Amino acid sequence: MRHFAIVGSGPAGFYTAEALAKAYGDNARIDILDRYPVPYGLIRFGVAPDHQSLKAVSKRYDQVAEGGTVEFVGNVAVGSDVSADELRDFYDAVILAIGAPHDRKLGIPGEDLPGVIGSAEFVGWYNGHPDFADLNPSLDGAHAAVIGNGNVALDCARILAKNHHEFEGSDIVGHALDALDGSGIQTVTILGRRGPHQISMTPKELGEFGHLEVATPVVEGADFPPAEADEALEPGHRKSITILRDFAAHGPDPSKPRRIVFDFFARPLRIEGDGKAERLIVERTVLDDSGSAKGTGEAYEVPASLIITSIGYQTPRIDGVPYDERGGKFANDGGKIADGLYAVGWARRGPTGTIGTNRPDGYEVAEQIAAAMPPGSEGGKAGAKGLSAMLAERGVNATCFDDWRKIEASEVAAARPGSPREKLVRHEDWLKVLGH
Ligand SMILES: Cc1cc2nc3c(=O)[nH]c(=O)nc-3n(C[C@H](O)[C@H](O)[C@H](O)COP(=O)(O)OP(=O)(O)OC[C@H]3O[C@@H](n4cnc5c(N)ncnc54)[C@H](O)[C@@H]3O)c2cc1C
Repeated sequence: MRHFAIVGSGPAGFYTAEALAKAYGDNARIDILDRYPVPYGLIRFGVAPDHQSLKAVSKRYDQVAEGGTVEFVGNVAVGSDVSADELRDFYDAVILAIGAPHDRKLGIPGEDLPGVIGSAEFVGWYNGHPDFADLNPSLDGAHAAVIGNGNVALDCARILAKNHHEFEGSDIVGHALDALDGSGIQTVTILGRRGPHQISMTPKELGEFGHLEVATPVVEGADFPPAEADEALEPGHRKSITILRDFAAHGPDPSKPRRIVFDFFARPLRIEGDGKAERLIVERTVLDDSGSAKGTGEAYEVPASLIITSIGYQTPRIDGVPYDERGGKFANDGGKIADGLYAVGWARRGPTGTIGTNRPDGYEVAEQIAAAMPPGSEGGKAGAKGLSAMLAERGVNATCFDDWRKIEASEVAAARPGSPREKLVRHEDWLKVLGH
């Protein structure tokens, strides 16, 4: 019998558990630990609430949790409730799948002014993450800015641009829907340091901007290279550019009051305001020979009382685990950190790729583990028994998958009409459902 602990119940954690369960069958017990009693990581707290079809992937993870060899151990934070080294004593292999939940900083003056928030905070707020339930983003002004040219920047802009009716069928949390209903924001400017050819935005997400009820995209035709240059692009990227070119060619729809302005070749220099963010000072850029953004010295002002930075994420450190400072993730070689210690998902490769990208990651690491400790071999570790005894001694109330089902049922029962659930947004409310 082998004992494996996977830390983190997002996509990477679940795909790894699925792969290990397939490789070992009854010869292993796999525990998926999470700091929260609710599983699925960014499927619950990141993926946009108006993209419900994507969240259905959690049904596959349910099957893994209910398959017999895998146990969900919630409400246990690795690094505080139990250390990585202690886990390594109990388990044959520990696989870190804790994602990359911390926003990278811009590193410009004014970044700490009220009104400036990271996308992890804003996304967490509208998705019911307990750390951000009290965020209260500044929605009183007429102008917001989102810094970054990836899909998360698009999510943030789209959520700010939609009206109440467009959230039907979503699981946006009540506090965010109420606040957005009273929002004064009329313009959302999306800034990128480079041009349309350098975006990391996918066609489906961009295409949605052409079908919003009260908002319309504004794109400058002059920002594009000659059309022939699109031929060198990978097909998905080319499709994104075609959509943006189309927005530029048609111009904004004058019947829609809200504007989403794509401001390319724009490098934020500083954020200014009287005790709070009021404007972003931006430098126009051009591409140099290597394709990097080079400042032109021409500066201008973008009014914004809400500024959301969406320029990437970092994995938090865990004591005793080697860290790659530059990459903002655990130092690893193809997923291996040390003997019996591995990383998968965003904690392994940094915050890139889709939900599905985490699958090959998990399978690859499971293969490495199976090669190092062949199915059928013995490790002599205490596994879940050892962990449970230690947690009980420390007064940590670990939860199981059935507990999550109870929380889920109470969220579904509380759903407003047309919504799949009304998420509980505080840790204590989850525990209250469980009678803790
Ligand atoms: C805003 C946003 C929107 C996205 N939208 C899409 C989309 O529409 N489509 C798509 O394909 N991809 C999307 N992605 C990407 C996708 O969410 C990621 O690829 C995926 O979630 C990464 O999986 P992961 O398991 O590495 O990390 P995560 O999903 O972040 O899971 C990490 C888990 O670890 C747990 N954890 C963290 N620290 C600890 C600790 N110390 N102890 C115990 N547990 C811990 C967390 O609670 C969490 O459950 C989006 C990402 C973001 C940020």
